[in-house]
Amino acid sequence: MSKTHDFIVIGGGSGGIAGARRAAEHGAEVLLVEHGPLGGTCVNVGCVPKKVMWNTAQMADMLRLAPDYGFETKTGGFHWETIKSARDAYVNRLNGIYARNLDSSRVTVVHGTGHFVADHEIEVNGERHHAPHILIATGGQPTIPDLPGAELGITSDGFFALDSQPANALVIGAGYIATELAGVLHGLGSGVTMVLRKDRLLRTFDHTLHEVVMEQMESSGIRIIPRANLAGLVRDDDGSLGFTDAGGDVTGGFDCIIWAIGRHANVASLGLEYTGVRIDGRGHVDADEYQNTSVSGIYAVGDVTRRAPLTPVAIAAARRLSERLFNNQPDARLDYENIPTVVFSHPPIGTVGLTEREARERHGDGIRIYQSRFVNMRYAVSAYKPPTVVKLVTLGPEERIIGCHVIGDGADEMMQGFAVAVKMGATKRHFDDTVAIHPTAAEELVTLR
Ligand code: FAD
Ligand code: NDP
Repeated sequence: MSKTHDFIVIGGGSGGIAGARRAAEHGAEVLLVEHGPLGGTCVNVGCVPKKVMWNTAQMADMLRLAPDYGFETKTGGFHWETIKSARDAYVNRLNGIYARNLDSSRVTVVHGTGHFVADHEIEVNGERHHAPHILIATGGQPTIPDLPGAELGITSDGFFALDSQPANALVIGAGYIATELAGVLHGLGSGVTMVLRKDRLLRTFDHTLHEVVMEQMESSGIRIIPRANLAGLVRDDDGSLGFTDAGGDVTGGFDCIIWAIGRHANVASLGLEYTGVRIDGRGHVDADEYQNTSVSGIYAVGDVTRRAPLTPVAIAAARRLSERLFNNQPDARLDYENIPTVVFSHPPIGTVGLTEREARERHGDGIRIYQSRFVNMRYAVSAYKPPTVVKLVTLGPEERIIGCHVIGDGADEMMQGFAVAVKMGATKRHFDDTVAIHPTAAEELVTLR
């Protein structure tokens, strides 16, 4: 016998929890199935512990700057295990908050692995559940390549489990996670080498951003090896770790190797073969902009789809889906254009809209670029002078802003407001007409000439 619900959500991460609670708010009887800790990737092994570690590295940066401001500081007193246990306690608190929120929203939570047995039926812990609406929100997991010795490396999940700080880390990859973890480790005093498959970090970002981030990371002491033809990982006789290239040469001396080469969707355990749900060529659940899969009444949101794998995207898409299904809003859907994003790199990057290259490809000569490079006043009294770069990509005679890119201190907090302006269709004239806030780095975006 199968229990019947209004809505079943598989996955209790960012998207699943948001969709389940919103549906319950509108009176739906909701079952949420989660086999790990509540909160999913973001809370447990993603945004949250990452931001704590980034904040820790920011503290270290401030301490390094403090003598220039007249403070006497003592260096070398960083205890990884202190921040690790404080961070774990914080994540535990969040797990509890998520459980209580689901409970107060009257969402029934079942701990176990959910898998389909038919289009509208799933099984969890040996029990069958049926619903006219089922949401797949199972997220993704880090990819480890099929190379000899690959198991000698850890992933971002393993990074958050580290009980002690690596002395000399190798980070393999070129995207968000590689850039962020390399920056954190280096900021906290570890030696860091990065191995790239191609020739730059954050290749899909505006070229100004990836040029400056690489310049900054290299000049701060991170070794970046581009176009490495990595053939496998090895453990030396002395116990240290290394990698081999296609020619058989070994680069070694590491005590920690982190794979950060992308993530893949959690679909393997879902029993999708018992449904008509289609998977795309890269292993994601195929979902349209309304989050519909190829089976009516089965939906997918978040990292399990091919859309921008970011927490606020999963949350926003899931909430809109629940508005559509349970609050009589047939047109509710997330607009996937102009999604702002921040890379918590050193220095941080904030970006929204088209890159200069994308804009030129799409709009040809109608593009005008405004850009400024300067030193944030934070470094006015120090010998260390990292750059900040702000850049606007505008379109047509009215100079509508179709791209806004910042790298430098404060970019992470700056971008949300500018993203609102871009979303509203702001022009360069609107920016020019906005009175600057002085002295800030953000004011440079409204004083560009
Ligand atoms: P998830 O949060 O991954 O949730 C999926 C859940 O489904 C998991 O809890 C999983 O256990 C569960 N599950 C899977 N299969 C089953 C099953 N069969 N049965 C039951 N349960 C199942 N995004 C940002 O916006 N900002 C950041 O700063 C940021 N930093 C990140 C840092 C790192 C290191 C990583 C890895 C990711 C980061 N992200 C960040 C991305 C963000 O974490 C994801 O985009 C977000 O968590 C996706 O939410 P989701 O609901 O799609 O999936
Ligand atoms: P990304 O997609 O950002 O980057 C992975 C990169 O690894 C690729 O761009 C690719 O770069 C490189 N790569 C792929 N395969 C290989 C290989 N075999 N060997 C070496 N390098 C390889 O993935 P991440 O795992 O870093 O992050 C996943 C997603 O999570 C991100 O896309 C982002 O949406 C989200 N996230 C968001 C954060 C935030 O908001 N601050 C932070 C962390 C994650 P190339 O093609 O240039 O070689």
